[in-house]
Amino acid sequence: MNTRLLKWLGLATEPGVSFVDDPQFGMIPSSKAPQKWVSTTCGYCSVGCGMLVGVSDGAAIAVRGDPKHPVNHGRLCPKGQSEHLTLSAGGRLLAPVVDGVEVSWPTAIAEMVQRFTHLQSEYGPEAVAVISTGQLVTEEFYTLGKLVRLGLGAAHFDGNTTLCMASAVSGYKQSFGSDGPPGAYADLEAADFIMLIGANIADNHPLLTPRVMDNDRATVVVVDPRVTKTAMIADVHLAVRPRSDIALLNAMMKVIVEADLVDHDFVNAHTEGYSELVAHLDAVVLDDASVECGVSVEQICETAIALGRAKNAVIAWTMGVNHSTQGTETVTAINTLCAITGNIGKPGSAPMSITGQCNAMGTREAGFTASMPGYRAYDDPQARAELAELWNVDESRLPLERGRAYPDIIEGIIRGKIKALWIIATNPVVSYPNRELLEYALSKLDVLVVQDGFETPTTKLAHITLPAAIWGEKEGTFTNSERRVSRVRKVLAPPGMARSDFDIFLDVAQEMGVDKELFAGWLGPEDAFNEWRTVSATRLCDYSGITYERIDANGGVQWPCPADRDDLDAQGLGTERLYETGVFPTKSGRMKLHCVKTRQMSDRPNEYFPMLLNTGRTVEHWHTRTKTGRVDILEHLAPEAWLEMNPIDAAHLKLHPGDEVQVTSQRGSVDRIALRVTAIVRPGEVFLPFHYDERCANRLTLNEFDPISREPNYKQCAVRVERSVGRRATT
Ligand code: SF4
Repeated sequence: MNTRLLKWLGLATEPGVSFVDDPQFGMIPSSKAPQKWVSTTCGYCSVGCGMLVGVSDGAAIAVRGDPKHPVNHGRLCPKGQSEHLTLSAGGRLLAPVVDGVEVSWPTAIAEMVQRFTHLQSEYGPEAVAVISTGQLVTEEFYTLGKLVRLGLGAAHFDGNTTLCMASAVSGYKQSFGSDGPPGAYADLEAADFIMLIGANIADNHPLLTPRVMDNDRATVVVVDPRVTKTAMIADVHLAVRPRSDIALLNAMMKVIVEADLVDHDFVNAHTEGYSELVAHLDAVVLDDASVECGVSVEQICETAIALGRAKNAVIAWTMGVNHSTQGTETVTAINTLCAITGNIGKPGSAPMSITGQCNAMGTREAGFTASMPGYRAYDDPQARAELAELWNVDESRLPLERGRAYPDIIEGIIRGKIKALWIIATNPVVSYPNRELLEYALSKLDVLVVQDGFETPTTKLAHITLPAAIWGEKEGTFTNSERRVSRVRKVLAPPGMARSDFDIFLDVAQEMGVDKELFAGWLGPEDAFNEWRTVSATRLCDYSGITYERIDANGGVQWPCPADRDDLDAQGLGTERLYETGVFPTKSGRMKLHCVKTRQMSDRPNEYFPMLLNTGRTVEHWHTRTKTGRVDILEHLAPEAWLEMNPIDAAHLKLHPGDEVQVTSQRGSVDRIALRVTAIVRPGEVFLPFHYDERCANRLTLNEFDPISREPNYKQCAVRVERSVGRRATT
């Protein structure tokens, strides 16, 4: 370990370093001993680790994993261990700006509202759209949903969550009748068999990795085209060809059915569609599946038999499944495989979507995007009437259907239907597929408002920028991938004129004259949380029994947590897993089994673009590096993008490790990427991380989307790789 890292971790024993006895953590370097520790939840990924941030003299000087937190038991990954440094990072937006001129908050809000209402009066309410984020606390997202739908009357409201886990939402709805992850992290510890499909948790959800590794009993299978860090800890790595997950799942189901390893009791009592599924599987040929997947028939059979014989099994997935035009269908196939093996609603058993962002779950439940708050469907008359009554508004003010999803908002801008866009805490210039088209869309807007904590490539294009508080500067709650609601606390005041998103939303409401109707008497985020508890009561995502006090006492509470359940009152922790009764929120009460077929990807390698590009993430960075790129320790560990290429392809192209290469797709080109020659990727495939504005993978990706969830197909497109122009080989 280098000296810099040792110093940063507080482990360097230089002359003059002294230690103090901290009441929380025992002997620690005095430079890391704060005047107080503030308990909060990590603001990066959806694992939802509890942490303590040390504060001295108005500065965040240290962070530690919360040893009492049920999610991480004191551990943190590199991003969590350095999260306090985001609070002193440069590049913050410090004042509202309108057309390049710094203005006061009242002027900025008045300008924004005036420009929005002018466009709406000229072109109708659909002229204004909003794209927000899974980075907001639930209290803010709930407030924003009401403001956008009832105040602004805007139809088109979505979030960057559509870019990462919309397919999990749609897949759950199609199988179970509702969104909502059925399982809990504890299931990873109780399972005999764990299959991770397209889920590189070691890089992307690091604190789930110990849950898997500490389970000595379980057979761990990783399904991924790359030899990821997660594949390296697996008992079995199925290095499948990209987009062959459905072929693999069908083949496994066929083996399980033919070996009669089906849980007939569960299937008969709790599902529908089994005979159709068996007929569908009749047409599956294992030899064909083996060719399609690039793994042997024996491997498919052994994996299927191991799953079928396991007492309890978890099948978990992340973006490798979701980032596809067949993401929703793949999720339903995973759910179906879990169902026929009886792996739903009991300890150690679950189909488990691992969400991306820290509060993607909160936005799914409280939002107004894919459904109305509390997972209420737009076309459910009873749910509409109930919500209208709760809010004391006429039912006609509730939308009859969801507005445009994120990609359809971008398309609406290009077609001239949408004239103004309010972007909140997300950076589409780097994160959205087919960057050139996205930049063209943003250039067509009459009004672009961007509300963010930091300057980003997207804020640079805005007509109005609103400086927002970031994690550590505001209060609220996050909900993690196992439905656990945890507290997020203000550690420091925001810098300059930056304000919490919650306060900004209330100011916009006041300027529009809807504050007294929508947010009467609200003084802070807890008022929003208490209303959300009432609105969610009796729904699947029931928060009514979750109070700030109860969260504080338990380090997090899992929904559903109804206020009137005595056992939950006594236990205090909510509900560990869903569907333990085998009753599902469908019309029949049964879960639907789905028959799914593989469709070929459209942008396949060809004569001009002979390689297949896969994009993904690395442990040191988060999304578009808005925060992690400003934290020295993380940025120094992964300062630039790289391209992984198999040695066979590198030899064929006469390329060497460290060469700078240019990658080109039908949509664009990215130049001067450092080459890594490695057998981590299969021959014919290359991998590029998507975090980097300077080497933006999304100049290459195609704008194709899942037809149901509208999630982009980030994972597969055809590219050509050449030595960068004017660059010489390294050897
Ligand atoms: Fe934060 Fe996720 Fe790392 Fe936990 S695993 S410390 S939640 S980034």
